Amino acid sequence: MSSLTEKDRPIVQLLLNTGTCPRCILRFCCVGSQALYRCPYKDLMKDLKEFLKNNQEKEDTVCFDVVDPPCKRIRLEHTEEGPDELNHNGALQQIPSVNNENTAMENSAVKVCNVCLGILQEFCEDDFVKKVCQKVNSADYQFTSFVFSVSLPPQLSVRERAAWLLVKQEMGATACPDCFKPAKNKQSVFTRMAVIKALEKIKEEDFLKHFPCPPSSPKNLCVALEIQCNNGAVFVAGRYNKYSRNLPQTPWIIDGERKLESSVEELISEHLMAEFKADSFNFSSSGREDVDVRTLGNGRPFAIELVNPRRIHFTAEDMKGLQQTINNSSDKIQVRDLQLVTREAIGRMKEGEEEKTKTYSALIWTDEAIQREDIAFLDDIKELKLDQKTPLRVLHRRPLAVRCRIIHTMRSEYIDEHHFRLHLKTQAGTYIKEFVHGDFGRTKPNIGSLLNRTADILELDVESVDVDWPPALDN
Ligand code: ZN
Repeated sequence: MSSLTEKDRPIVQLLLNTGTCPRCILRFCCVGSQALYRCPYKDLMKDLKEFLKNNQEKEDTVCFDVVDPPCKRIRLEHTEEGPDELNHNGALQQIPSVNNENTAMENSAVKVCNVCLGILQEFCEDDFVKKVCQKVNSADYQFTSFVFSVSLPPQLSVRERAAWLLVKQEMGATACPDCFKPAKNKQSVFTRMAVIKALEKIKEEDFLKHFPCPPSSPKNLCVALEIQCNNGAVFVAGRYNKYSRNLPQTPWIIDGERKLESSVEELISEHLMAEFKADSFNFSSSGREDVDVRTLGNGRPFAIELVNPRRIHFTAEDMKGLQQTINNSSDKIQVRDLQLVTREAIGRMKEGEEEKTKTYSALIWTDEAIQREDIAFLDDIKELKLDQKTPLRVLHRRPLAVRCRIIHTMRSEYIDEHHFRLHLKTQAGTYIKEFVHGDFGRTKPNIGSLLNRTADILELDVESVDVDWPPALDN
């Protein structure tokens, strides 16, 4: 139950006389109940007039007997402003005002509120709420909760101040207008911040010189310029295999020119984008492979953020179907363990990335002939420490540094006099190609120096990325 008491009477009288709407009056009387504000405008106006008519000897409260509903999170802001029609002495000339447009409120001879410009009149009535609902419905989003966010003209802050000074001057009142102020928001434009800053600084007597108090009655109602819907991002994770030596992980573009027509992220994301009806996506993964390197085994963990998706409800069965669609669409990649995850869980993919191990298979060529026994000793080497200077091939995008990496184990597989395959288990972040050919002595030791021959790498495959995320699914 909420009520106005006898002490509110002069404030109600004063504000009503100066053209303030019932809901603004309730705010200035510090009425906190949301339910009351939901009553139709006409009823509120009638109740306030009744309240003023009441004899002082009578019961001194008017009760608006409504049950408080659960609180919803509502944020107020404003995106677009029209030209100002309310300049006074130039001081606040840049303050944008509302659009000129005739409205139902005006036509039905309701006076536009001099504090809220009618925002708490028309926009709190059923018709406008219906309009918002229609817009949300037609945007075709799936959602379970929402934040209703409104952008207000900066001018409101000035009017709010003027109304507050009026109440203060006339009443010497201690009413607190702060308790229901339009929220100042983060996305604010410069002009809004400037207005708020100016209001913080300006002295009361100076303010009164520049702005009418009470605020003048506006000719037009504030107009809702745009109703926008947005959904929070959804995250999908999985593991991918890459079977092509001609496919980059992300679009390969040099000087604005596309080098290869596709990429791992695009082959996966295009299907997700279509199903989730998202605006855009962000791809991330646990490390990456070179364009000519395949990723085999259980694949590489990845996550995709889908921005502003319309569809968000997917069952495990739906995700399985989506995975099948991706896998049927290309023989260059395969995806497994495709699932919805939280934003927080993605951190697990990145954390401890450096400490994880990776296993590789490299096809190696040597200039001088080799026999089986020449390479057998590699199998006995454990925890080999490398010093790797930043490879020449990545020096254009990575700082020059010497990094210590460890080859945990190696296993050689003799092919012929000039070829063998080497299976390696290494610390994540080891440059394998450089470990084989030595990168002009920048990686020490290397396969060439260990064999005392010139060695080069012909093919490289990632056999496994030992990150146990996302959880394996049994499909
Ligand atoms: Zn108002």
